[in-house]
Amino acid sequence: MTKIYEKAPAKINLLLDVLRKREDGFHEVQMIMTMVDLADRLEMEELPRDQIVLSSQVGFIPLDEKNLAFQAAKLIKERYGVKRGVYIHLDKQIPVAAGLAGGSSDAAAALRGLNRLWNLSLSGAELESLGAELGSDVPFCVRGGTALATGRGEKLTPVQSPPQCWVILAKPPINVSTADVYGKLRANELKTHPSLPRMLDAISNQSFPEVCKALGNVLETVTLDRHPEVRQIKDCMERLGADGVLMSGSGPTVFGLVSKEMKVAKIYNGLRGFCKEVYVVRMLT
Ligand code: ATP
Repeated sequence: MTKIYEKAPAKINLLLDVLRKREDGFHEVQMIMTMVDLADRLEMEELPRDQIVLSSQVGFIPLDEKNLAFQAAKLIKERYGVKRGVYIHLDKQIPVAAGLAGGSSDAAAALRGLNRLWNLSLSGAELESLGAELGSDVPFCVRGGTALATGRGEKLTPVQSPPQCWVILAKPPINVSTADVYGKLRANELKTHPSLPRMLDAISNQSFPEVCKALGNVLETVTLDRHPEVRQIKDCMERLGADGVLMSGSGPTVFGLVSKEMKVAKIYNGLRGFCKEVYVVRMLT
């Protein structure tokens, strides 16, 4: 039986702005997203019977139709009339409900993988459009790299990779629901917005200090107020000397960008004092 593997990397938002709430209930956003090398791994294997079966080494995620990887498999199978089954094992490494798009990236990896396993020859654009039916972050996760995401997050424009650096991720022991955070956001009353042109300039000039200064996420206004531990982690990373610090997505994960390797151990050890889940990764450029 053929067995294939796909990596599903986590994403961080260097910039996340919400412009307004739309009539369809979605929010109009502007985001600069990039992948980091903390990844789930999907193993996909043909099944002799026409069924989708999902397993994982972690016990706290759904393994049925509620799982985004399952939904992705079902969607591509039904849309292209595939009469074959698949067994998908999800090796979860990305923290769940963390603001790192773990579920979306699993869905994207399932689409890419099943396109290969079932020889469907779908283009990247076709996979992205299937992804958009599953969730706003899925098209970006299908494509990877670095991108400007607009609309509800599904419209992508490629952006050059940001200057390479260390990325320290710290997740406090709370789970945050993205839907809850957007639900509580008063999008039309936001007083300040991060500057997209400033971030795009910083990236195109490959200026690491300018990228750090241009970081911004309007969802911090909701999550930091409701979860003081997220603010504490931000403050701690700043005190320990990270060059730029921001909450990713709807949180609660906070990331710190660090240019000098010699600073990394000090920040990691300092954070581990009160946060169990800390990861040191690189951007995927
Ligand atoms: P985003 O950054 O896109 O908001 P997130 O990183 O905050 O996503 P996920 O890890 O995708 O959040 O999980 C959110 C919820 O989705 C979880 O509580 C879980 O029950 C459900 N879920 C569905 N599929 C998956 C999956 N493949 N991996 C993890 N969680 C999943």
